[in-house]
Amino acid sequence: MIQYKTKEEIEIMRHSCLLVGSAHAVAAAQLKPGITTQQVNDWVETFILDNGGIPSFKNYGGFPAATCISVNEAVVHGFPGPYVLQEGDIISLDIGVYKNGFHGDSAYTYAIGNVSDEVKRLLKVTKQSLYAGIDKARQGNRIGDIAYAIQDFTERQHGYGVVRELVGHGLGRQMHEDPQVPNYGKRGTREKLKAGMVLAIEPMINMGTKNVEFLKDGWTVLTKDRKPSAHFEHDVCITSGDPDLLSSYAELEKAEKANINLSWCHD
Ligand code: MG
Ligand code: MG
Repeated sequence: MIQYKTKEEIEIMRHSCLLVGSAHAVAAAQLKPGITTQQVNDWVETFILDNGGIPSFKNYGGFPAATCISVNEAVVHGFPGPYVLQEGDIISLDIGVYKNGFHGDSAYTYAIGNVSDEVKRLLKVTKQSLYAGIDKARQGNRIGDIAYAIQDFTERQHGYGVVRELVGHGLGRQMHEDPQVPNYGKRGTREKLKAGMVLAIEPMINMGTKNVEFLKDGWTVLTKDRKPSAHFEHDVCITSGDPDLLSSYAELEKAEKANINLSWCHD
């Protein structure tokens, strides 16, 4: 059942969502070759706890860490650990914060050092597809309109693969609420969008095949062809007018651009 939020609840959620963006900025300022993904996780976890939040993902269904960190061919749900980041890696960082009874949930893919032009293009197109989806998050449209916009842009216009097995979701008091928000589908299908719905829209886009495999750890999702995959996620509230973006990349992108150890892929 879809949980519609009141205006007061939306403002509480906005605070959780913006805290996720600030946690991203902490990581974005420090990412570089030579550090482990465990270190990245620990900076983010400490920041969330210091700001009165709880990491949403920790112990969620048994997930062992505060963040999901998925490098290169890992699509999502990677475990932070001893892996040392290398020049040319891409790292998808997914962060969730629970505070004042509501979750925020946002992901971003960073390029460590110099990455190839084709990887830069994957990151740029995946982020653009997120905004193409958000532009359809309007009262009267349907979930399928968001899904179609993302799939059309990434698969038809750019020849990438949209992951089918994992989807976006409603967000609120629970981290995963109805409705599901696939990144593929037909216009005019699925649930109708109404003011007060909050959606986590999160394209997971593969450079090659759309097909994925699940690692034996039960969580990590890899591309079948081991080509890289990117992931961007924002939290959006449906209103009677324009989509209300509750999460923000402003702070993290400022940190990303200022960090000489990261490549900016988005102009
Ligand atoms: Mg997420
Ligand atoms: Mg999510």
